[in-house]
Amino acid sequence: MSPDSEQSTTYGFETRAIHAGYEPDPTTGAVIPPIYATSTYKQDGVGGLRGGYEYSRSGNPTRTALEGALAAVEGGTHAFAFASGLAAEDTLLRALTDPGQHLVLPDDAYGGTFRLVDQVARRWGLEYTPAPLDDVGAVRAAVRPGQTRVVWVETPTNPLLTIADIEALAGVAHEAGALLVVDNTFASPYLQQPLALGADVVVHSTTKYVGGHSDVVGGALVTGDDVLAERIGFHQNAMGAVAGPFDAWLTLRGLKTLGPRMDRHCDNAERVVEFLLSHAAVSHVSYPGLADHPGHDVAARQMKRFGGMVSFRVAAGQQAALEVCRRTEVFTLGESLGGVESLIEHPGLMTHASVAGTDLEVPADLVRLSVGIETAEDLLADLDRALSV
Ligand SMILES: *Cc1c(COP(=O)(O)O)cnc(C)c1O
Repeated sequence: MSPDSEQSTTYGFETRAIHAGYEPDPTTGAVIPPIYATSTYKQDGVGGLRGGYEYSRSGNPTRTALEGALAAVEGGTHAFAFASGLAAEDTLLRALTDPGQHLVLPDDAYGGTFRLVDQVARRWGLEYTPAPLDDVGAVRAAVRPGQTRVVWVETPTNPLLTIADIEALAGVAHEAGALLVVDNTFASPYLQQPLALGADVVVHSTTKYVGGHSDVVGGALVTGDDVLAERIGFHQNAMGAVAGPFDAWLTLRGLKTLGPRMDRHCDNAERVVEFLLSHAAVSHVSYPGLADHPGHDVAARQMKRFGGMVSFRVAAGQQAALEVCRRTEVFTLGESLGGVESLIEHPGLMTHASVAGTDLEVPADLVRLSVGIETAEDLLADLDRALSV
């Protein structure tokens, strides 16, 4: 099923995730694309390309299969696979912006995104303003008509799971002649479809839920706009930060089970949230599915479910929070997220150590969970043991 076939938009999400982007091989019938470990392709006479491939930076059939599937699951027409999420972001920034232009960035952006903009892109002339994306008025005030080229959105954000209204922000960006880019890593295309809500480009760290097994680093860009697609495709080839064939194959294998995995991540996260809310050692739980979460109504409108990420505060303070991170056995202490295995971390000293002392500093008693797809009772028992000091 190719992504631009009419069928690909009428089939359901899981069918597209499993079938889009690849037809069983005509010579062998192979149901799954091979790992095309080749750098170059034999030409039938000068310029006589078989299937359009000439060199694997420009195109590789394993990567093409992944790109077709990614376009189909995001509801786009073109997708591009990269060596990492940040490689995708770097390529996108260069494809979309010129020196002197301006970017609006979430004031709690993923740390690597912030570093890329602040320490790399700024050196070649890109300006930026951080803004609280859950406040549409604040974003409108941060936009500079004529100079702002991109409004960059993450929702939910890390680690406090702040929600941005994609449709409203698309309106703000487009009114000012800017593009809306959405980093859809935390929600995944199964839970949230930014292109349908007005986004121009979707960014993924496929390292997380799309790959889903903590065994590969990758990134992707997806769009439904032919002009943007041509620009991004040119830069993907010109800059060269492409996904290799083995990485593309692993990511495609992960993508096939994204829907069922996400449902289980959400089921388990809901059980964990319910458990934490009832635990005396926990003073606060952040989860967009909770009615008292400030972004709950927007999340309920734009997300199918509320995801697998949960953050909570430990009543007894930072030392107790660190102790909880040390004591879990099923939850593995580590950074990253979105894999089948549950992870626990202390944002203040781990993922968010670099923002200590700034406005973005996170509470010292905060613990972040990436809830995996293990047996729910084992996860609850593990947290109960760790919280009972
Ligand atoms: C991990 C992550 C990235 C960066 O992706 P890499 O694959 O690590 O380069 C970007 N955005 C978000 C929200 C992430 O979680």
